[in-house]
Amino acid sequence: MSNLLFDFSKTRLVMLDDVVSIKGSLVENLFDNSIKDYENVHKKRPSKCTRCKSSNVLGVEIMGAYDGILFWECDICENTILRFKKDLTEKYLQLAKGLWTNPSDWGYVPPSKFN
Ligand SMILES: [Zn+2]
Repeated sequence: MSNLLFDFSKTRLVMLDDVVSIKGSLVENLFDNSIKDYENVHKKRPSKCTRCKSSNVLGVEIMGAYDGILFWECDICENTILRFKKDLTEKYLQLAKGLWTNPSDWGYVPPSKFN
């Protein structure tokens, strides 16, 4: 069985402030103002971008947020496609924001933060 989920050639690892401005609702900042497609949740890599239909969809991993791909991004039109529901994505993004001030904690996610 192939394991597309861990195809690292199609994954990019970024810092939180590379993808969002760190204020307000982080998950809302992932999307452009015209298209906020929170309902389109894809647990596995979408075969095509939901907007431009390109097959160049990358997994995006954010340091300190989630150990693995947090959401998908089209390499052509930069459309964001969520992997988790909006609220959960926001929680993970907030974790990265918290760790921003404490870099020595990178990689460690306290379970209590999810309660
Ligand atoms: Zn696209």
